[in-house]
Amino acid sequence: MTDLQELDKVINDRLEQNLNELAAFCAQPSISAQGKGMKKCASQAAEMLAARGFEVQILPTDGYPAVFGQRSGQTNATLLFYNHYDVQPPEPLELWESPPFEPTIRNGKMFARGVSDDKGHIACRLAAIDSFLAVEGELPCQIKFIIEGEEEIGSVNLAPVIKQYQDLLSADACIWEFGGVNDDGIPIQSAGLRGICYVELSVHTATRDAHSGLGGSIFPNAAWRLIWALSSLKSLDERILLPGFYDHVIPPSSRDLELLENLPDESIPWKRDYGLKNFLKDLAGGVELRQREVFEPTCTICGLTSGYQGPGSKTVLPAEAKAKVDFRLVPNQRPEEVLQQLRTHLDAEDFSDIQITCLGSNPPGRTDLDDPFLHLVVDTAKDVYGTPQLIAPLSGGSGPNHLFLNILNLPVATAGISYPGANIHAPNENIVIKHFLDGVRHTARIINRFAKIYA
Ligand SMILES: [Zn+2]
Repeated sequence: MTDLQELDKVINDRLEQNLNELAAFCAQPSISAQGKGMKKCASQAAEMLAARGFEVQILPTDGYPAVFGQRSGQTNATLLFYNHYDVQPPEPLELWESPPFEPTIRNGKMFARGVSDDKGHIACRLAAIDSFLAVEGELPCQIKFIIEGEEEIGSVNLAPVIKQYQDLLSADACIWEFGGVNDDGIPIQSAGLRGICYVELSVHTATRDAHSGLGGSIFPNAAWRLIWALSSLKSLDERILLPGFYDHVIPPSSRDLELLENLPDESIPWKRDYGLKNFLKDLAGGVELRQREVFEPTCTICGLTSGYQGPGSKTVLPAEAKAKVDFRLVPNQRPEEVLQQLRTHLDAEDFSDIQITCLGSNPPGRTDLDDPFLHLVVDTAKDVYGTPQLIAPLSGGSGPNHLFLNILNLPVATAGISYPGANIHAPNENIVIKHFLDGVRHTARIINRFAKIYA
């Protein structure tokens, strides 16, 4: 019988050591989008696993390698942790209060790029493992890690790795890379992720920009071409106009709606934090807003570039225009179908000149809401947070969880150290040290209960 109090004591006693290790990990840049520090960071992750007696393999990909680690335990039940060692670019640097790759502790928080997303989560799993090794000298079950290096650039090479190493990665359940508490300190379980189809749309109407006095009446304008094409994608009432786009959309079940009702109403903090006057379609809040937030697919213009945008005026007719657009997809939409629908639609609307480049995609993925592993993770939170996790049936973001759900056939659950103020992907990314401790204690309880139930 593992004594949870003994584990907690070790977790507390080792806190400084574990935070120092996390700080050293965060001090090593690993910016996949810019190719900075990737190899060194992969080696550092491998060393951190090896230091705990894990057998480590570097799994090569067509991009940055993934790090695999495995350590056996008292039973053959196997828990797989999915994490990533890459981080987002730190820019704009001037908005950081302390340099992004010089981890700094102030006001009970640690600040650094990657400290929450996702190096802090790796450190959290390792600190929980340390507590078992210190108390029992071994792990209660087998533990595996797959730590990829391309999550922040869309996990572009992960699918072949998961398929090729399916046997190596075999497990009974998977803990996802993120998790944490909401503004009220209540732990949240994200039981699924939306899919995504991210595209760049571009159009070239000439070999170079022209004087608008010369060309305005007689030359095609790339910016207008792109704007007309974009405006054909969605109607003013927010309906996405690609033929067939909604054909495979499954509406939320009554169970999903029930879970959404239990989630706190975030409409007031969202309005306050983002300075919004109202939500789309004048939604008031409550379950209707929650439902639309995650069960409605999107078409979002993420960026738009053309012509002159500097100070003053420049009478120019742009030859080129570009937009980045993401479609967030709900069950059972498929990104490859949406890509095809987009091409067909643009051609049919006389926009064959608009080029589409797909920059990344993932289908949606959900864990069965009745899966016992999901409930193990939900219930073990109670001992740490005083309340079980609240279950969000689907969350708005996206990721490669479908590979774990559908290829490795694992239930996937979330638990972690993050919170809404973590500033992930933004300047001043941080973790609250108290959340880190809580996350480690929860992870230890998950491992402990898992080892018993899945033995
Ligand atoms: Zn991220």
